[in-house]
Amino acid sequence: MSPIRPRNVLRIGPVQVATYYDGRGRERHTAACTAPRCGFSADYDSRPAAELAARTHRCAVR
Ligand SMILES: [Zn+2]
Repeated sequence: MSPIRPRNVLRIGPVQVATYYDGRGRERHTAACTAPRCGFSADYDSRPAAELAARTHRCAVR
């Protein structure tokens, strides 16, 4: 299991956006696609950037 405790988990289409603190106490925002064969996952410095990435994600798996 990961030691990361995500919060504010939001689902936009197939993409899940979550906010968590990294090991140094900094806030990080991640967008990760839940489609089995997509594999899209990225970290962002700001929540709006992560949500924008989720909204604009064009999933390869349809
Ligand atoms: Zn995808």
